Amino acid sequence: MVNKTILVVLDGLAYETAEQCMGFLHALIEQGTATVYKMQCELPSMSRPLYETILTGVTPALSGIVNNQITRNSNQTSVFSLARQAGLTTAAAAFHWYSELYNCSPYDAVRDRHTQDPERLIQYGCFYHGEHYADSYLYLDAESLRLRYNPDFLLIHPMNIDNAGHKAGINSSHYRNTVRHSDSELSKYIPTWIDEGYQVLITADHGMNDDKSHGGTLSIERDIPLFVIGKCFSHQQMCTPKQTEICGTICDLLGIQYHRKPVPDNLLLKDKLMKRQYFKAIAS
Ligand SMILES: [Zn+2]
Repeated sequence: MVNKTILVVLDGLAYETAEQCMGFLHALIEQGTATVYKMQCELPSMSRPLYETILTGVTPALSGIVNNQITRNSNQTSVFSLARQAGLTTAAAAFHWYSELYNCSPYDAVRDRHTQDPERLIQYGCFYHGEHYADSYLYLDAESLRLRYNPDFLLIHPMNIDNAGHKAGINSSHYRNTVRHSDSELSKYIPTWIDEGYQVLITADHGMNDDKSHGGTLSIERDIPLFVIGKCFSHQQMCTPKQTEICGTICDLLGIQYHRKPVPDNLLLKDKLMKRQYFKAIAS
């Protein structure tokens, strides 16, 4: 069975700041609709290597995407390639590095910014290249893709949190307020996604440090959240998902068989009894 899935990658969102500043997502947790897990990102704690990890389940050391300057197509199977093989529809509103990893490299803004090509791995794309592209516009781009093309898998990737961290560091009102703003943006769309039955994962590539950067092994750089929303998740705390297991989880949600990607124990509901317990719990 295909469960339509939305993956939101909030660039540069540290776990601790998500916990303190994302009131809307935590309201969903308090009412039993969402669950958050603490994850550790793979290394190096940098964007392009970890976009590849999230979408392929492969660590940077193995994928070869070990820094931000490596500009080439991914040579791994990904959520996008596996979904396309299964005949599913894919879309992304995201930084242009995703277009380079899964569609065309190098990025050509005139050709690639608005992608509508059923033959591509990301069939419907709205890609940006200015790092200050406003999150509010990006969410509108994503919603437009969702309504227009009804994708089975939609990736949404805003960049403003990471930018705020590079400008002011993790311990700054600018960084925290940008996280609060992102939470508020999400509150405009998530209720509709829930009503329409989407499975939603919200996570980050990496965190942020006090030196206005990231890349190393500090816990503020590596600790990131994974929020999950939807009826297919177990919503059990007895689960320790890894960043390398997001890809396999999405493949399972999309009903893709034999994907050979790692998946965490207990993140998804595997049997009807657990599903019944979940619905009983949220009804009470
Ligand atoms: Zn960054």
